[in-house]
Amino acid sequence: MGVKYRKSYKFAAKSAAVISLFAMLLLVMLQYFYFNINVLFTAIFVLVFFCFSFFVLQYRVERFIYRRIQKIYKEVSILDESVLRNQPITTDMQTLMYEVNKFASEKKIEIELLKVQEEYRREFIGNVAHELKTPLFTVQGYISTLLEGGVKDKTIRKKYLDRADKGIDRLIDIVNDLDMITKLETNELKLNVQVFDIVALFQSVFDLLEMKADKKDITLMFDKDHYRSIYVKGDREKINQVILNLIDNSIKYGKENGTTEVSIKNLTDKKLLIRITDNGFGIEKKHINRLFERFYRTDSSRSRDIGGSGLGLSIVKHIIEAHNEHIYVESNLGVGSEFSFTIEKADKK
Ligand code: ADP
Repeated sequence: MGVKYRKSYKFAAKSAAVISLFAMLLLVMLQYFYFNINVLFTAIFVLVFFCFSFFVLQYRVERFIYRRIQKIYKEVSILDESVLRNQPITTDMQTLMYEVNKFASEKKIEIELLKVQEEYRREFIGNVAHELKTPLFTVQGYISTLLEGGVKDKTIRKKYLDRADKGIDRLIDIVNDLDMITKLETNELKLNVQVFDIVALFQSVFDLLEMKADKKDITLMFDKDHYRSIYVKGDREKINQVILNLIDNSIKYGKENGTTEVSIKNLTDKKLLIRITDNGFGIEKKHINRLFERFYRTDSSRSRDIGGSGLGLSIVKHIIEAHNEHIYVESNLGVGSEFSFTIEKADKK
């Protein structure tokens, strides 16, 4: 403990002074009535008397307070009694005050933390159950209908089995997202950093999502034609997941006949800024701060219809932060959104 405790002699000194003054008056009176007053004798007597009472008082009070403080330490067993043993005994209670205050503030922080964790855990379990319930009940509904006779009708059989299959795909997606986010949050997921071409990665995501975009007549494009290869440093698989989630969102929350545009610009000598801009639904300002929280949706009913679990952006943020990079969002309701992130440049492989 780096705290220096003040040893106070004030109490004993003042008390000894009062007693000595009283003794001196008594002695002077006795001498006055029965003997001649001897100044030297009186002075020595008062001095010896003062010293004696000072030491007796100081020692007694220290012992007295020490025993009581020790008792408090023993009763409140969380306080460290050895701390007291190592300290000079004080009469001003500073040690105890310091320890009790420290203990109280540590406990307060601990309790607050436990409350937050408990709330977080409760919310998380609630959200997981909620997310799993919808596809699970859907699958159960189709299978029950089939079992109740629908299986005999060839068209219903095919239709319902397809729908049940989609429901199971959705369940798998949610479980995979949960698995990924748990690994990211517990730092279990190690980055496999390598040099790769980010333009080629975008192109492969464009190819993968082309059909989905076509259904809404959304064009996926770069802001300029014929980007040459641009090399970056990062975990290719994870950055692929980031790009996939962001482009997928731009389609899911994009308007018919819209566009999703990707731009790759130099931010500094070492960093690139990658922007994914859409002209879709946009996001209200009040949601922006919470957008990257897990399970957060701006409009849960609409997002759920579209098929999101609300985990995509929190996975994106975790991955970007694991790379020690940053992600930003700008959006205007009804106009569109822009998600951008930084990434380290690399020389050609
Ligand atoms: P989800 O799985 O629901 O898509 P995300 O974490 O990816 O979850 O996104 C969280 C919410 O942010 C979405 O539910 C949606 O409301 C909003 N959002 C994300 N991207 C966009 C976008 N490009 N345009 C408009 N809203 C978006």
